[in-house]
Amino acid sequence: MNKRWRNRGLYVLLAVVVIAIATAFLDRPDSESTSRSLRYSELIEEIQDNQVSRILISSDRSTAQVIENDGQRAEVNLVPDKNFIKQLLDHKVDIAVQPSRQTGGWQQNLVGFIFPILLLGGLFLLVRRAQNGGNNPAMNFGKSKARVQMEPETQVTFSDVAGVEGAKIELEEVVDFLKNPDRFTSLGAKIPKGILLAGSPGTGKTLLAKAVAGEARVPFFSIAGSEFVEMFVGVGASRVRDLFEQARKSSPCIVFIDEIDAVGRQRSGGLGGGNDEREQTLNQLLTEMDGFENKAEIIILAATNRPDVLDAALLRPGRFDRQVTVDYPDASGRRQIIEVHARGKTLAKDVDLDKIARRTPGFTGADLANLLNEAAILAARNEFTEISMDVINEAIERVMAGPEKKNRVMSEKHKLLVAYHEAGHAIVGALMPDYDSVEKVSIVPRGNAGGLTFFTPSQERMESGLYSRSYLQNQMAVALGGRVAEEIVYGEDEVTTGASSDLQTVARLARQMVTNFGMSERVGPIALGRSQGGMFLGRGMGSNERDFSEDTAEVIDEEVSKLVSLAHKRATAILQDNIAVLKELASMLIENETVNTQEIQELLVRYDVRAAEYL
Ligand code: ADP
Ligand code: ZN
Repeated sequence: MNKRWRNRGLYVLLAVVVIAIATAFLDRPDSESTSRSLRYSELIEEIQDNQVSRILISSDRSTAQVIENDGQRAEVNLVPDKNFIKQLLDHKVDIAVQPSRQTGGWQQNLVGFIFPILLLGGLFLLVRRAQNGGNNPAMNFGKSKARVQMEPETQVTFSDVAGVEGAKIELEEVVDFLKNPDRFTSLGAKIPKGILLAGSPGTGKTLLAKAVAGEARVPFFSIAGSEFVEMFVGVGASRVRDLFEQARKSSPCIVFIDEIDAVGRQRSGGLGGGNDEREQTLNQLLTEMDGFENKAEIIILAATNRPDVLDAALLRPGRFDRQVTVDYPDASGRRQIIEVHARGKTLAKDVDLDKIARRTPGFTGADLANLLNEAAILAARNEFTEISMDVINEAIERVMAGPEKKNRVMSEKHKLLVAYHEAGHAIVGALMPDYDSVEKVSIVPRGNAGGLTFFTPSQERMESGLYSRSYLQNQMAVALGGRVAEEIVYGEDEVTTGASSDLQTVARLARQMVTNFGMSERVGPIALGRSQGGMFLGRGMGSNERDFSEDTAEVIDEEVSKLVSLAHKRATAILQDNIAVLKELASMLIENETVNTQEIQELLVRYDVRAAEYL
């Protein structure tokens, strides 16, 4: 036989062996082969006597392997029983479902002939290693422990984290829990097991988690969600087990899971099959979380910038039922972060930290750390003895010009435009007679938005959930306020695409008023079109099924555009009458980035304007 071919044959064989061993190990943690068989009723008895530690259910739910407390194994034929899983959970049995689509028989047969091939494969490996000292990546299995990082003492404290006061306050509680669990448990307080840190990359989520561990002086275990999701089915789940096994040995401790969305995305609900590996990993994580007691022994902090995509099962009470938002820092937060990172750096006298903070909207904590480091490098390269303001300005420009930050970090011109746009929303909102009050206006970018205006709905409206026709009309005018401000200040030719999501809101509202809420006289109180948000279709209007005539469609379109143009006229009237207030609010925003409800009220008083009926 040709030598090359023989080698290839061995490769194939080896691959089969490796996968087979892996499957065998993962599915049956102890390599001992199956012996006894139990009857279902015996199994139930054992479960109720707490004699079962673990159960591995076949993927078709027909059989299971049972591992008893003393390590003995047994095989059971299952019968359909609605209470089975509940009993397992009640008695804290570790449940796993056989990952592969293969039946148990396949694996049993395989185990039978693994041994001889193993020898062969082992030999082959030895030869290969001798040949090129190579490392076969497929053999890195089982070494999953290496992926978990452990720091016995992080040395990070809350004083190293700045500009995220809200998050710090919430996490201080966790430190208390870890330090004095008894004080809390003796009063019957439920200690949180899982806390979700939600925020964009670089805002300091990892740093916060380390600070919690550092403050409480407990070990810090960390792993990234992406590490769990690997090629081989079952590896993720075994890594989760490993992680918690290690953590349990050093409890109390913090377990930090970065990028939890990599494992915790919503399950696919059966359409087109899910990702088996991810689901199993997720299930294992849930099992582990449900397994520990209310004793503050392990607190899991998980980070994500997409809390919206997480599976509901993860967010249930007793799991990640607390969410802490880690926002982009505002100007004063940035100043504090700069102070933290200026520690130990030699700054020249002319360095104005406030000015740096004002020049860096959209920077995260990581960007600011990077900025100061960049400045130190620049200064060193120029052989300066201290870091001057000039150097820092140069570093700001460097960081801004960096490829990823282009969109997030605003130029002065863009900042002004966003300020007018948001001020437009806020002023229209504040001067509408029947509308929610403006809570806060901000030009700090968040997610996709360049700026945001927050409204607080009245208690009454929140409780009833009912919206009057005039309220909805006002809402359309408020949503158009941003765009209208741009038109007034920059002229109609200069308006930007920044208002596209506002325009969508307006169009959706107007169409709903006409077709769902019966708020158009011409169309009348008829619900038209299949209801919104069908199960499988997109959320856009275009996907609505039509159940009305071409003529009706035309009337609807006319009514919708009438509502929109009325809203546009009202917003324009308000802003034209109050252009001075608009300009003042925009400049307040440029100055401070956020303006709160009280400052807006003061502004309105200063200009002596009040809510009024426009048109
Ligand atoms: P995330 O986990 O949110 O992506 P990190 O915690 O990894 O962000 O932040 C990276 C680095 O940026 C930190 O190690 C720290 O030097 C700096 N940093 C980020 N946020 C802050 C903050 N709020 N205060 C001080 N430094 C910060
Ligand atoms: Zn807007």
